[in-house]
Amino acid sequence: MGGMFDVVVVGAGVIGLTSALRLQQTGARVAVVTAEPSTETTSSVAAAVWYPTRTPFQARVLDWATRTFDEFTCQAADGAPGVVMRPTRMLLRGRASDVPWWAAALPEVRALRREEVRYPFTAGWAFTVPSVEMSRYLPWLQERFVTAGGTLIRRRIDALDQAAVWASVVVNASGLGARSLCGDAQVRPVRGQVVLVANPGLHTSVRDEDNAEGSTYVHPRSTDIVLGGSFELGQWDTTPSPATAAAILRRCTELLPELAGAPVVGHRVGLRPHRKGGVRLEADARPPGQVKRMVHNYGHGGAGVTLAWGCADAVTALVGGAALSV
Ligand SMILES: Cc1cc2nc3c(=O)[nH]c(=O)nc-3n(C[C@H](O)[C@H](O)[C@H](O)COP(=O)(O)OP(=O)(O)OC[C@H]3O[C@@H](n4cnc5c(N)ncnc54)[C@H](O)[C@@H]3O)c2cc1C
Repeated sequence: MGGMFDVVVVGAGVIGLTSALRLQQTGARVAVVTAEPSTETTSSVAAAVWYPTRTPFQARVLDWATRTFDEFTCQAADGAPGVVMRPTRMLLRGRASDVPWWAAALPEVRALRREEVRYPFTAGWAFTVPSVEMSRYLPWLQERFVTAGGTLIRRRIDALDQAAVWASVVVNASGLGARSLCGDAQVRPVRGQVVLVANPGLHTSVRDEDNAEGSTYVHPRSTDIVLGGSFELGQWDTTPSPATAAAILRRCTELLPELAGAPVVGHRVGLRPHRKGGVRLEADARPPGQVKRMVHNYGHGGAGVTLAWGCADAVTALVGGAALSV
């Protein structure tokens, strides 16, 4: 065993593709194995703004988020497809407005002035973060990988040791798939539904995190706007619910009345790979079967885009020289 490659990455979502690209940059021969095309992954559904949704502070998470912020900032400046810097307002209701932990990753987070906040909101933050259109960005990542000599393999595997056919160093970036591939019962879906409407000319993202009826967000893109959201733990159904869509539209229009009447152009549902205890990013102490080294990188929940490049750096450090020496 050991195959034709130095490393095989399982998964072609944003976590797998960024890991594969970083590994490739070390000179490794890399293959990506995926059950579905990247355009059909959870990553393709993401609203994909930089924001560590429902992710508590850990020093390592701040490091990943900071590295990812910096990478996207460079990519936006270089004109990477679908990546722009987006002004954002986060509106708060009644809670003390301590500076959020993730502000340390950003060059500037400003408290909204009193005249910028209207009832029912009591405070808020203004900041500018990367926003990514995944329908353009994921194909670009994949193209970069293949152009640099990477190999993409469409195959569903039933167990991680099957990946040893391609390489004896395996990176597990299988998202929700890790629940069965690793027998990790801490991994569960958090169903997320969004409504896409035509963009009547909005430029600024707006978040109403404290809405008692469900956290609410409006994320403009080049031609449409992503309206959300829903966070349904343990729900596997990927069919859009008309009732959820109607509730999202109502909350978003209350937040920004200029959305009233904007034509609906789509409904999407994705299953966030939530993991109780947070992301699993570590080398496996007991890799299975013929696998010589296994690095896990899954369980990013609602923050996979926000953490992707930093996690890819950490994966590359954990794979280390192993990729080229086994
Ligand atoms: C509505 C919604 C909005 C979101 N908004 C944001 C946001 O604004 N910002 C943000 O940071 N995050 C956001 N997220 C979260 C983000 O989408 C996820 O954290 C991220 O996509 C996870 O990426 P992943 O690569 O781990 O998983 P996935 O994209 O699910 O990719 C998993 C890959 O593993 C493969 N795989 C799984 N099992 C197997 C197997 N047995 N054999 C072979 N291949 C396998 C799959 O085919 C796929 O290629 C949002 C999610 C949703 C649903």
